[in-house]
Amino acid sequence: MKIGFIGLGNMGLPMANNLADAGHDVTGYDAAPGPIDFRKLSDGIASAVSGAEVVITMLPNGAILREVAAQAIPHMSPGAVLLDCSTVDVESARAVADMAAAAGLGALDAPVSGGTGGALAGTLTFMVGGSPQAFDKAKGLFDIMGQRAVHCGPSGNGQAAKICNNMILGVTMIATCEAFALADKLGLDRQAMFDVVSTSSGQSWSMNTYCPAPGIGPKSPADNAYKPGFAADLMLKDLRLSQQAAQAVDADTPMGQAATALYATFVENEEGAGRDFSAMLPRFESRGRS
Ligand code: NAD
Repeated sequence: MKIGFIGLGNMGLPMANNLADAGHDVTGYDAAPGPIDFRKLSDGIASAVSGAEVVITMLPNGAILREVAAQAIPHMSPGAVLLDCSTVDVESARAVADMAAAAGLGALDAPVSGGTGGALAGTLTFMVGGSPQAFDKAKGLFDIMGQRAVHCGPSGNGQAAKICNNMILGVTMIATCEAFALADKLGLDRQAMFDVVSTSSGQSWSMNTYCPAPGIGPKSPADNAYKPGFAADLMLKDLRLSQQAAQAVDADTPMGQAATALYATFVENEEGAGRDFSAMLPRFESRGRS
C-alpha cells in the first residue's frame, strides 16, 4: 500500500518503520529541523501525501493536527483515508473528519496505548472512531503496528475511549499511591499490602501490572528510579483532554478533575516533569496531610 506518514517522533518513527519493514511503500515527513533516520523522506506535506491510499499522522496536539490536515487534504486522492493516531481533543478529531468527508476522503481517529515500547515492538492497541469502510481499509495496517484495534463507533469515539481509559488510569494510580503511603504510616509492610490488594477488590492495572512501589510486584518504572514508562507530563495532557471533553458535554467528573489538578501540581510546581506517572508514590511518601 502507498502510505504517507506525517510526524516521525518518538511514536511515529517506529510505527512508520514497522509498516515499511512489512513491505509497504511509506513516504515520511516531519517538520523537525534536525535529520531523521527514515528510509524515504519527503520535503513537504504535499509530496508525502499525494498518491497515498492512507495518510497517517502522529502529532503532538489537536491544533497541529488541524493545521497538517488542512495542508494534506487538498493533495490527497479521492477515496484515500486520513488516519490520525495522535492523542487529541474529541472536537479536533471530529472537525478533521468533517474536513476529510467534505473532500471525499475517509477519516479515522485511532489513538494508541502501549507507548514507545509498543510502537517499537508493533504491539500497540488502537481505539478507533470512523466509518466501518475506513476501518476495513486500515485494518491490515493496525495489524502490523499493533496487536489489537477496537472499532469504537463514529468519528471522535476513538479519542473518547482513550481519554475515558486514561482518566480511570490517572485516578487509580493516585489512589494506589496514596494507599501505599497510608499503609507505610500505619506500619503495614508493602509486600503484604500488594499481596492483599492485588488479589482483593482494590486491585487494578496500576497495582497489579504497574505497581508504583519499587521491588514489589512485577517489574515497573518504580524499579528503574521512576524513569518513564508513561511520563507524568503525558498523563497530565490526557487528563486535561478528559476535562475539556467533560466540560463540552456537561459531564460531572469530580475524580477526573481532582486527578488533573494533582498531576498539574506535580508536573508544573513539584518534581514530576519527566518522571513516570507512578512517581506519585514518593510524592505522597514525603508529605503529611497539610
Ligand atoms: P513527539 O513529540 O516525539 O513527536 C511528534 C512529532 O511531530 C515530532 O517529531 C514533531 O517534529 C512532529 N511535528 C510537529 N508539528 C508538525 C507539523 N506541523 N508537521 C509535521 N510534523 C510535525 O511525540 P510522540 O511521543 O511521538 O507522541 C505523538 C502522539 O502520540 C501524541 O499525541 C501523544 O500524546 C501520543 N502518545 C504518545 C505516547 C508516548 O508514550 N510517547 C503514548 C501514547 C500516545
